Amino acid sequence: MKALILKKHFRLIIDKELIVLKDSSVTLSELKGRVKKFVGDRNWEQYHSPKNLAMSISIEAAELMEEFQWIDIHESRNIKDTGDFDNIKEEIADIMIYCLSFSNSLDIDVADAIIKKIEKNEKRFPKP
Ligand SMILES: [Mg+2]
Repeated sequence: MKALILKKHFRLIIDKELIVLKDSSVTLSELKGRVKKFVGDRNWEQYHSPKNLAMSISIEAAELMEEFQWIDIHESRNIKDTGDFDNIKEEIADIMIYCLSFSNSLDIDVADAIIKKIEKNEKRFPKP
């Protein structure tokens, strides 16, 4: 097996087959770096203030909600079986990209923030 890792592009080539890296193989730090590079390469830091990024997260979340606006709960649970699922994935990506960029702008360690919030929620909502 001949493997070539193109980690900076989040692609893996094994025996000439292109494999896109998944959640289990890409770290949050790597994703934050990729978003930072994308923003920096375009000189967009000037626009990526915490205020603008917080607004962008909310706007993209609204775009995700729009996908579910006129369907019922049952239809929402089966959204994966529709042609709209690609739109859902793109909106999730938009939200998370802005969340990572927001975290970059304020030097927030996302993993630390998530773990601390889950621990806080575990105390707030104890197991029944
Ligand atoms: Mg969007």
